[in-house]
Amino acid sequence: MNPWIMSLALIAGFGVFAYSARKRWQLMTIGAAAPRFDRIPERLRLALRFAIGQARMPRYRWAGIAHILIFAGFIVLLLRSLMLWGRGYDEHFHLWILGIDQPLGKLYALLKDVFAVLVIIGALIFVYYRVIKRPERMTLGVEGLAILGIILVMMVADIGYDGTEQVLAARAANAGVQFIGWEPAGSTAALALAGLDLSDAALNVVRHAGFWSHALLVLVFLNILPYTKHFHIITAVPNVFFHNLEPPGRLVPTEDLEGKVEREETLGIARIEQFSWKAILDFYTCTECGRCSDQCPATRTGKKLSPKHLTLDLRDHLYERQDELIGGGNGDGAAKIDLTSGVIDPEVLWACTTCRACEQECPVFISYVDKIVDMRQYLVQEKGEIPQDLTVAFRGLETNGNPWNLPAAQRNEWTEGLEVPRMSENPGAEYLLWIGCGPAYDEKARKTARAVAQLLTRAGVSYAILGEEETCTGDAARRAGNEFLFQIMAQTNVEVLNGYGIKKIITICPHCFNTLGNEYGDFGGQYEVIHHTELLAKLVDEGKLKPTQRVDARVVYHDACYLGRHNGVYDPPRAVLSCIPGVELVEAKDSRDRGMCCGAGGAQFFKEEEPGRERVNTARTDQLLATGAEVVSSACPFCMRMLTDGINAKDREDIQQMDIAEVLLKSVAGLS
Ligand code: SF4
Ligand code: SF4
Repeated sequence: MNPWIMSLALIAGFGVFAYSARKRWQLMTIGAAAPRFDRIPERLRLALRFAIGQARMPRYRWAGIAHILIFAGFIVLLLRSLMLWGRGYDEHFHLWILGIDQPLGKLYALLKDVFAVLVIIGALIFVYYRVIKRPERMTLGVEGLAILGIILVMMVADIGYDGTEQVLAARAANAGVQFIGWEPAGSTAALALAGLDLSDAALNVVRHAGFWSHALLVLVFLNILPYTKHFHIITAVPNVFFHNLEPPGRLVPTEDLEGKVEREETLGIARIEQFSWKAILDFYTCTECGRCSDQCPATRTGKKLSPKHLTLDLRDHLYERQDELIGGGNGDGAAKIDLTSGVIDPEVLWACTTCRACEQECPVFISYVDKIVDMRQYLVQEKGEIPQDLTVAFRGLETNGNPWNLPAAQRNEWTEGLEVPRMSENPGAEYLLWIGCGPAYDEKARKTARAVAQLLTRAGVSYAILGEEETCTGDAARRAGNEFLFQIMAQTNVEVLNGYGIKKIITICPHCFNTLGNEYGDFGGQYEVIHHTELLAKLVDEGKLKPTQRVDARVVYHDACYLGRHNGVYDPPRAVLSCIPGVELVEAKDSRDRGMCCGAGGAQFFKEEEPGRERVNTARTDQLLATGAEVVSSACPFCMRMLTDGINAKDREDIQQMDIAEVLLKSVAGLS
């Protein structure tokens, strides 16, 4: 075609891209360390499945399918771009074995044509979404449409280029234009062009326009990437590869807290440059699809928090300060900007229930809970900006080991009338039954504790409780940003647990389940932790508990976030319900890994909800009641309280709210 123009375009295109990419790389490396180079085979597998295989995309069906088509086409057409660049120097250039007279060349030509058409279909679906459907979750700026325009022009240009080549070749051979099976799109274009009866000169103009449009627009596209949300085309694979492989419910402990205080280091995250390099890679990778906010209970109920906008605000702030950060080395010498004073409204941070619905949905594995808790840590531990109700809960935890500040002596009142062994009397028990503050103090949740204890006794399980020696695990303190208090509570509890040589723990509360199982290991407490619904399902399966009495009711099960999304326990509670004669188990619109939060997590239970359109618990209650269920079942004392309040707010006295253990208890003969 024209070697000079092609050389100039390639040098300019790749040169400018290298400059932009270098800046982004430098900006990323100002971030704090994050150890993400372990378990490489697992990382590769996950990157293949979720980044290359786009496994989360079809969760939003048509947008997902459109994205998969464009992404797959993008990979197939990369080779085509290389070939076209080569043809700038030699009109007959092809890549090695991909010559059109070779079998692989024909196969590639077929693939290229098919995917060019599929990419056009995918791009048109997105045009429909952006222009006609306009879902609230998406960012509907001109940038997205411009990119879609570039993609469409490139594909049409490519097909047009092939078509003109075929017509000109047929004319040179004095033959008619034929449909070629391995170039279906190009041949269709050729047949259409032949019908127009254009002159050779006109055909050559179309051919050149097609060729240069594709060859040059790829370079334009490449240079747009680092400055737009489409940077994810480059960063999505590494972002998925380097995502956190630890259990999703585990927060990384702050090392050497006291030393940090002595050295006057910031506790938590105050400034953008204190995020890790992986967090910065997250900011680069956000596709602005809005799936996170679409599932976020806070966004859904009209709170200020939208996880997508949280990421975008942090990203925009990072980009605004790029030169200063790169030039000044971690921002030293430059104005150090407190994120919670102008960039992120603290109300946004306090509205999060840490439910992980956003993380579960994000197709590129961007994390939120860790960032939000890190910023809360700064608010609580450095600025002392704590919602009033939380200061009361913190005081209760410090004084009496429970967030309600109730006397420790009341912790055992739930056992009244039952024979529940204590660890101090029965140190050889196989399991410790960890009660948790909710079942210990909350009147309604106490029924769950009683049901669990009765069922364990009936099944002959060797267990005991700590009694007054048990205190809160500290989950709420940690997620509310009080890492200091959490670490003290964790160390105290681990001392008690290890003092009894405890190996196996049954928990009633999913928050205790998560903290004991995923977080106490960092403080020397390694335990096999099982949630009561898992153990009950096993006992029923083994025939040690026999649900024989009918419980005639339509039952909906509400997934607790810390049991489901944080720990993958979805089936055991359903398995228990399914074994009970008479129970008709129904599913809410959002369930399992899309289950909507009840609004209690992340210490929300202990404070007033941020202002919004409605409360999270009533929104979730609506979903559950829409199933026509007579019983709303759950497996978390905090969900239970939130849903009970939701049901009461709707004056639905006809609806019962029961833990899975209570429903099972009704069915096991002689216990109810
Ligand atoms: S963790 Fe839950 S509440 Fe928090 S931002 Fe994500 S979806 Fe929203
Ligand atoms: S964080 Fe993930 S889900 Fe949310 S807008 Fe960005 S890419 Fe989409």
